[in-house]
Amino acid sequence: MHANTNIPKWIGAAREYKATGTARYHAIAKNAWDIVINAHTYAIGGNSQAEHFRPPNAISAYLAKDTAESCNSYNMLKLTRELWTLDPTNVAYVDFYERAVLNQMLGQQDPHSAHGHVTYFSSLNPGGARGVGPAWGGGTWSTDYASFWCCQGTGVETHTKFMDSVYFYDADSLYINLFTPTVLTWSQRGLTVTQSTSFPITDTSTIKISSGPGASANSTFTLKIRIPTWTSGASLALNGAAVTTATTPGSYASISRSWTAGDTVTVTLPMKFRTVPANDKRDLAAIAYGPTVLVGNYGSRTVSTAPTLTLDSLRRTSETTLAFSATAGGSTVTMVPFFEGQGFNYVTYFPITGAVPS
Ligand SMILES: [Zn+2]
Repeated sequence: MHANTNIPKWIGAAREYKATGTARYHAIAKNAWDIVINAHTYAIGGNSQAEHFRPPNAISAYLAKDTAESCNSYNMLKLTRELWTLDPTNVAYVDFYERAVLNQMLGQQDPHSAHGHVTYFSSLNPGGARGVGPAWGGGTWSTDYASFWCCQGTGVETHTKFMDSVYFYDADSLYINLFTPTVLTWSQRGLTVTQSTSFPITDTSTIKISSGPGASANSTFTLKIRIPTWTSGASLALNGAAVTTATTPGSYASISRSWTAGDTVTVTLPMKFRTVPANDKRDLAAIAYGPTVLVGNYGSRTVSTAPTLTLDSLRRTSETTLAFSATAGGSTVTMVPFFEGQGFNYVTYFPITGAVPS
């Protein structure tokens, strides 16, 4: 089936449910999300090959230049927002949101382009790449006048929307869903929430509450901080003192109190190496560090077959950037985030051996 013909229908189904309460439409949207995420989604959060859903559970068979059409992920993010607002205890939705935004969508844009050019597909073949002109295959960046794709339309939107799912609120709570430097003007409460972080380079984010325009509103609420499934040993501190609240991966950690200006919460989400195996081939996997999917940098070398990567060899080589190294095929390879895989040949899925460092 043509993937992006269908994803907007599921967004419509979720909205139909919100408008009518007809449970069938909620079931359609939820079921479709589950099928796409579990059976069709690559490590970077994208789905489809040549715009189409291929047979289910066949990730390893479809690692191509034209994988993960950008529009599909743009629409899956919309669908995910709809479903999460119907089930706001379900961290799986936000885990996916982070995965697709941080890996595929951030990487979709040429960081050196003054006009913000983007790719149509995100290549996942061994030796895939993003760059200028037809030689770069599915990873060709758009141009001012020589391209006019659907993914340029959604791309223009995507890269203005990185802030739109960081915070949500309901009658009693403020949800911190994503870790990214932001300032929230919470006008309904007369509060300003400032999040300072260099996540995912570091594993810590600081959230400061202060008075904003219209202050004096009720400042008693529950701060609900997403504890991602990929972390373990997460911790919270309030004004420098450890908070004893559950920080179970895949849940929200809650702090309820009457907040006063200057209150500061620090959240620490330890990161480790992990594998994201192909769903049909467990010994073929992408490597991630915390939320960030990594690629091997092969420069201008032609790579047609991915070398076997020794998981025990994975090392972080910088504290201030996301730089890593590994041994693959008997040689040392530099590993960088998928989103930094720009202008060189990369490998995302490797045959793997051994175990990641603990
Ligand atoms: Zn498109």
